[in-house]
Amino acid sequence: MSSSTGTTVEPHCGFCGCDKNDSRMLVEGTALEGQTAYICDDCANLCVGITTEEKQTDDRPSTPFSVQNIPSPRDIYEHLSQSVIGQEAAKQKLSVSVVNHYKRLLDNEGLAGIDDAELKDVTIEKSNILLLGKTGTGKTLLARSLAGKLGVPFAMADATSLTEAGYVGEDVENIVLRLLQNANFDVEAAQRGIIYIDEIDKIAKSAGNVSITRDVSGQGVQQSLLKLIEGTIANVPPQGGRKHPEQQYIQVDTTNILFICGGSFDGIEKIIKNRTGKSQLGFGASMETSHEEEVESLRLVEQHDLQEFGLIPEFVGRLPVLAVLDDLDVDLLAHILREPQNALLKQYRKLLVCGDVELEFTEDAYRTIAEMAKAKGTGARALRSVVEEFMAPLMFELSEQDAGQKIVIDSDVVRGEKISLATASHVAADRYEPAPELKNLLA
Ligand code: ADP
Repeated sequence: MSSSTGTTVEPHCGFCGCDKNDSRMLVEGTALEGQTAYICDDCANLCVGITTEEKQTDDRPSTPFSVQNIPSPRDIYEHLSQSVIGQEAAKQKLSVSVVNHYKRLLDNEGLAGIDDAELKDVTIEKSNILLLGKTGTGKTLLARSLAGKLGVPFAMADATSLTEAGYVGEDVENIVLRLLQNANFDVEAAQRGIIYIDEIDKIAKSAGNVSITRDVSGQGVQQSLLKLIEGTIANVPPQGGRKHPEQQYIQVDTTNILFICGGSFDGIEKIIKNRTGKSQLGFGASMETSHEEEVESLRLVEQHDLQEFGLIPEFVGRLPVLAVLDDLDVDLLAHILREPQNALLKQYRKLLVCGDVELEFTEDAYRTIAEMAKAKGTGARALRSVVEEFMAPLMFELSEQDAGQKIVIDSDVVRGEKISLATASHVAADRYEPAPELKNLLA
């Protein structure tokens, strides 16, 4: 292979730079201007992993949406259940609210076919949704699956990156831009889309959240978001970034966009307890709050508690549907590993099948992974890092000789105590060191 300077260069992977001595295989292809390019098998495998993950998280709508064709709440619930494990109450509440939201659109567009004179003049109000639950309990997944079922454009934003005009950060209109991009700039489709705003609790006006780069009280961002959520004509800069006077804008009416906000609202349990009087310090009462009590009290959350937490009343008023997500216990985490359509362990099995290697997990392996993930305290998010910890070294050691073989993962492999390549015994146990963080967990 010769370089642009005329010197001869050994074929090497264009991604990681390894040459044919360092890799099992270098795949050759033609790059721009007829030059030869190479990719090694490790980088190609990595790309397969990334594209598999991207496919699952694809924001683009799968089918065009028609308001006349609204699924039933049960249909939506069943669709959500294919990917979201547990969270029964939240799934049901969400299914009903979303159907109501789109019925409202039907009515607004005169397509509901209502003859009753009394009902004709009744306006169905918009019901944006607030999902309340700890990190990694499935809030984002719920919102995304919902949009997938309805085939409407979907966009996500993080409230902590938003600012009111004049401060460092992102204008709220950029959220609408993202929706517009995911709708291929079809304004009408975007106007019926779903926007998920995460970390909404972080813009509450409590002292802990004050930021000089955002605004002094947190209220400014809430005010800006409020307009968007209740319905306004948003001037969206097509290129994104901060607005400036000479710019051309795309006008998007946000009245019919469904906004789902999510947040963990750490510490709101205390506010709820104070209101409900369930924190009696009377005779025999324990000073400590058990985890179960905290979960139980979260289910009693009301709009008023959110105000006390630091959301302005008008903002809370625009999020009339409250759905609480439960903490995930070890059993649910074990289900999440193996059951959803795109379950993590199914993904790993698929990756290995690509190299003609079968992967099997024992029952105690599922449980151990779930227990280790639970100990990390970040819900189902931790599952990936626990699995990655023992799978990465194992996959690194796999070679072509392992084709046609089966690898059994038991709890010892998960804990890093042994490598169980049933046939590929060249992976010596003493070469696998669990990360210090995991060692501590296991101690
Ligand atoms: P949150 O938004 O509540 O912080 P996410 O929805 O982003 O959490 O979930 C983080 C990861 O955990 C995702 O990979 C998601 O698929 C998985 N996950 C979380 N909760 C569940 C659940 N209840 N069922 C299935 N997978 C879940």
